Amino acid sequence: MSVGQAVLNLLFPPKCPFCGHVTFNPGICSSCQTILPWTEEAYQVQMLPGGTPCASPLWYEGPVRQGLLRFKFSGASGAAETLGGLIAECAAERFSGEFDTVSWVPVSAKRLRKRGFDQAELLARSACRAWETRPEALLHKTADNPAQSSLAGGAAERRANVLGIYEPVDSTRIAARRILLVDDIVTTGATLCECARTLREAGAAAVLCITAARTRP
Ligand SMILES: [Zn+2]
Repeated sequence: MSVGQAVLNLLFPPKCPFCGHVTFNPGICSSCQTILPWTEEAYQVQMLPGGTPCASPLWYEGPVRQGLLRFKFSGASGAAETLGGLIAECAAERFSGEFDTVSWVPVSAKRLRKRGFDQAELLARSACRAWETRPEALLHKTADNPAQSSLAGGAAERRANVLGIYEPVDSTRIAARRILLVDDIVTTGATLCECARTLREAGAAAVLCITAARTRP
């Protein structure tokens, strides 16, 4: 650890993104290490409707749910670093050599103004630091639709809520590329499927998805 980093750690002590306790080193605290609900190998990659594979290292429950909710509203950089690291590790394990660029599921311009950051972009940026590259903004969200988590209905309502609301930023950067798409959570997969469909329509050769966590089937 550099002196600069040590001073920063004293001023802004690193916190475990899952329980919020101060840790000596950035990352997951030792008690969370043992209790986190990691996805079993058979559940790490799921096939979303439309044939898009999606990998997730964690189940969205208990401390993972609390940690991701806290991250969504704070955008804490330490949490982004740790969660992005988990995403990078899982993508390397499951999708190694299968993608040549990284992007994310964007929030709307209105949401971005209100919150000040895009949580999926922070995760993508942090995951890319592990590969010494940068994610590319390939999609634009054209409408500020109700949050998927606010809908009472099932999968059909979630699909309808996101239909047609993403647009390619620049199709020349999408054509023939194999894209790894990052988001924080996957539930029914409606959002990721719609993003993947939009990217494929714009000429993407393949779309793979990765999220920090997934809900139980
Ligand atoms: Zn912890």
